[in-house]
Amino acid sequence: MSRFLSKKFQALEAYTPGEQPKRGEFLKLNTNENPFPPCPKAAALVAEKISDLHIYNDTACKELTAVFAKYHNIDENQVIFSNGSDEILAFCYLAFCDETVGVAFPEISYGFYKVFAALFDIAPTKIPLRGDFSISPLDYYNLGKTIVIANPNAPTGMALSLAEIELILQSNPDNIVVIDEAYAAFGCESAVSLIKKYDNLVVTGTFSKSRSMAGARLGYAISNPALIADLNKMKYSFNPYNVNALTQLLGKISVEEDDYYCTAIDAVVEARTAFVTRLNGMGFVTLPSKSNFVFTRHPDLDGETLYQELRNRKILVRHFTDPKICDFCRISIGTMADMTRVADSLEQILEV
Ligand SMILES: *Cc1c(COP(=O)(O)O)cnc(C)c1O
Repeated sequence: MSRFLSKKFQALEAYTPGEQPKRGEFLKLNTNENPFPPCPKAAALVAEKISDLHIYNDTACKELTAVFAKYHNIDENQVIFSNGSDEILAFCYLAFCDETVGVAFPEISYGFYKVFAALFDIAPTKIPLRGDFSISPLDYYNLGKTIVIANPNAPTGMALSLAEIELILQSNPDNIVVIDEAYAAFGCESAVSLIKKYDNLVVTGTFSKSRSMAGARLGYAISNPALIADLNKMKYSFNPYNVNALTQLLGKISVEEDDYYCTAIDAVVEARTAFVTRLNGMGFVTLPSKSNFVFTRHPDLDGETLYQELRNRKILVRHFTDPKICDFCRISIGTMADMTRVADSLEQILEV
């Protein structure tokens, strides 16, 4: 830290992203990426677009917006795109949280929620999970704060039902509820259908996981036109050109080629089901996952050892040191072959 860093950020603890090793060095199951590449059509079309890069990109993402709005059956003024969904979450904090209204989120959840709270100088309310690691909707009734919930939650993978989310929305009519659907495509109900009914709902999402675009950075929020206008105010006050031209095109192609991505999602879900069966056969305790990762622990192995033993076998998973979850590892779901390799390795590890 230099002596010039603003005093208000000297104690800030930034987000720690999962390790990104050299390609091919590990079976990489630590950051919940999609094991399948973008659709075959994408490469040539994006390459063609490179010759337009001397021109600024479209700040309104018009072509992407048209295709995406039609896909979700919403109006074009009900969506905003961002540089990954981390950025749209930051815009939500900027627009809808301050020291007066505050922010509340589950104690065990996506690590960025508390980093944004610290960055924007808001003392967060962290709401504990139940003993079984599920979110208790009752704990969010009448909170009088902006609420941020990942559904399915990370790193647990467990989801709330739409009815449970609705009760949270109804009991907080004067506060914004942000539902972060980064993993919703892998098995939970989307809250997008509720945006017309509740004027306090913002649904965020990302192309990083279900649309194989983690490295291209495309996120979004879907909400009513007034809240989208508020978020646009943040975007146009910070970086109107936040979604580059290649990413806009790749995002549009991914929606047009939806069948390819649905097939990939189905394959991930099938690999998850088979993997969980093998895990549980070995005595692992695995939380019920609606996402493209599983959160699992074994009674005879601590999480750190499990992480290290897999790492020794060139398999990279995620371990968290927080005492409440340090017994667990979060393992992203790859292809069926990837997960067979992990399960075989775990059998080896447990036999020693
Ligand atoms: C991965 C993730 C995001 C953000 O992903 P981006 O790559 O920034 O779009 C947001 N929320 C949760 C819960 C995530 O796991």
